[in-house]
Amino acid sequence: MRLKDKVALITGGGSGIGRETALLFASEGAAVVVVDINDANGEQTVLDIRANGGEAIYVHADVSKASDCEAMVRAAEEKFGKLNVLFNNAGIMHHADDNAETTDEAIWDLTMAINLKGVFLGCKYGIPALRRSGGGSIINTASFVALLGAATPQIAYTASKGGVLAMTRELAVIHARENIRVNALCPGPLRTELLMSYLNTEEKRQRRLVHIPMGRFGEAKEIAYAALYLASDESSYVTGTEFLVDGGITAANETRNGERGEIP
Ligand code: NAD
Repeated sequence: MRLKDKVALITGGGSGIGRETALLFASEGAAVVVVDINDANGEQTVLDIRANGGEAIYVHADVSKASDCEAMVRAAEEKFGKLNVLFNNAGIMHHADDNAETTDEAIWDLTMAINLKGVFLGCKYGIPALRRSGGGSIINTASFVALLGAATPQIAYTASKGGVLAMTRELAVIHARENIRVNALCPGPLRTELLMSYLNTEEKRQRRLVHIPMGRFGEAKEIAYAALYLASDESSYVTGTEFLVDGGITAANETRNGERGEIP
């Protein structure tokens, strides 16, 4: 059991990466606080964890709201007595997020509020709880687009993920001597609801696939295993990283079939 006796809070736990991670963490012995705004999905994750003999509660919280973030951390401490792992994972990719000229200010603000401020608020309320439990691990979901420009424009999303990565580094440095580790998880393109509803035609999917050396989208489970490592004591000397799990996309500017030039 790699997370025995640990308490983990996971935002966006009703779907995709968050859901797979919640199931995996619970199977490795963690008590899990599943946070989402989609109550049906969040509660389903909890039911599935319990059906497998694990321990979990669901908390409705919108990560863009300070009072909700404060309440989700309080719920973890009230129910399970402490917090050891904070996975700031909830995020959106809005279909109207485009280039700088065409993206509405409202889309920019919404994306920043959830993807970037949501991580800040999770840390704002989560760090004191981690300190109270003697330290812990924070994992912030960024993206490969924090490191690599994508030709399919999503200006607000990309900027928000760059912010998550920069903020993660600073948090890691500030809290290193408090036994609080902070790492960014940078997934490549995944076959989850978030990306598949954005790349909503076969043409768009193929356009991205051609740039992935492995030639396929990643699975949420493959990110969950990386999160498990960062959450566990196995990564005790790892902080401030941009942990890439991306099928090789950031390593390549040419794929084996010779497609070249155009960025993903
Ligand atoms: P997903 O859409 O499957 O799951 C996201 C979950 O977050 C959903 O359950 C949703 O209800 C929840 N959520 C949305 N807004 C919220 C809010 N304000 N408060 C609380 N919960 C909220 O997406 P996913 O692919 O699992 O993405 C998870 C994270 O991974 C996101 O931060 C995303 O940007 C990032 N990411 C995804 C990919 C990819 O290709 N799918 C790649 C890189 C990074």
